[in-house]
Amino acid sequence: MADSATGSGERSDRQLAGRTVLAVFAHPDDESLACGGTLARLADAGVRVVLLCASRGEAGSISDPALVPDGDLGGVRACELRDAAAVLGIAEVMLLNYSDGNLRWKDEPELLADIVGAIRKYRPDAVITFAEDGLYWHLDHVGVHERTLDAVASLGAEAPPLYFVTMQRGAMREVVNAAHAKAGASSDSSFWGITPDAFGLSAEPPSFVVDVRDWVPRKLAALRCHRTQMGPHNPMAWIGDEEARRLLGVEQYRRSPLEATGDPMLEHLGEIQHAD
Ligand SMILES: [Zn+2]
Repeated sequence: MADSATGSGERSDRQLAGRTVLAVFAHPDDESLACGGTLARLADAGVRVVLLCASRGEAGSISDPALVPDGDLGGVRACELRDAAAVLGIAEVMLLNYSDGNLRWKDEPELLADIVGAIRKYRPDAVITFAEDGLYWHLDHVGVHERTLDAVASLGAEAPPLYFVTMQRGAMREVVNAAHAKAGASSDSSFWGITPDAFGLSAEPPSFVVDVRDWVPRKLAALRCHRTQMGPHNPMAWIGDEEARRLLGVEQYRRSPLEATGDPMLEHLGEIQHAD
């Protein structure tokens, strides 16, 4: 058992029992890719994890058309999201039906109001969303970052702490290399057509990181629930357990500068990063 699940880590996890965390993302699979390990770790600690997913991901590419026989990709991805949420221990999924591909520009007031409504309904002790870079400048992700930041800001001093999750620069390139070493040409050299170097490239440095090495098997299992996205050639389908633990076992965060009330709860899981 790793040190993250023993000693002070276990004590800090236990003190979070009974709290609520709201994660706000754009598409089914964002939750698993960006912070699946943290969400599973929080759920295991007795935290009620709620996910708001703004779209059903109906504009994504399909790994295998046989998975979507009736052409309703959004419907299939909704089912995949529920499977992934069950793996991660997410207590409740709010799956909205905003237009995939238009989240930054369309229906801005409506999405903002839905996020505010979710915060009012669930009264989370912390909110997690994308940072400004949207993991790899995906405009839907950037839009969800903007709406969530505006939603939390609109609550003034009543707002819960807001956290931005980013990806480790270079990690996805290493995932590709590790998968290639195992599977050769059976493993793609990109993710969904995106160069692996794009992930985390423009992220600002985190202020703390969360050790999720013991939760990487759950994170991978959740990712693999998104079968229309993952496909048999996705490097995530090939990465070995040890490499995954090393490359996907750290999730990193920055606290938003907004004023907030309440305990900075996510920092309890983290190791503070010093800029030096
Ligand atoms: Zn996404």
